[in-house]
Amino acid sequence: MKCPICNIGVLKKKHIEEVMFGIPLGKFPAELCTQCGESFTDAETTRRIEDVAKKKGIWGLEMKTKITRTGNSLAVRIPKKIADFLNLKEGEEAYIHPEKNRIV
Ligand SMILES: [Zn+2]
Repeated sequence: MKCPICNIGVLKKKHIEEVMFGIPLGKFPAELCTQCGESFTDAETTRRIEDVAKKKGIWGLEMKTKITRTGNSLAVRIPKKIADFLNLKEGEEAYIHPEKNRIV
């Protein structure tokens, strides 16, 4: 089957290591593009990956946040779930830098 992303490569069945937010979730069957490397998982596998992520407590850690104003600066709200996951405490120091159109 041709890759629907790049339209050049073909999809080959492989087992790939799924990683979410830097945490390995295990190996899952997927179809991998020989050209662009994009991977595709079927509905059943996607559901299994979701289950493992939920068990590890990392499901739903990707979320929108609002940028608010504090004085002359802008502040990024870190949602409680992410703060708990990273064990962040008020008053702790963090480093940020711009990278193209985003903040890292
Ligand atoms: Zn491709």
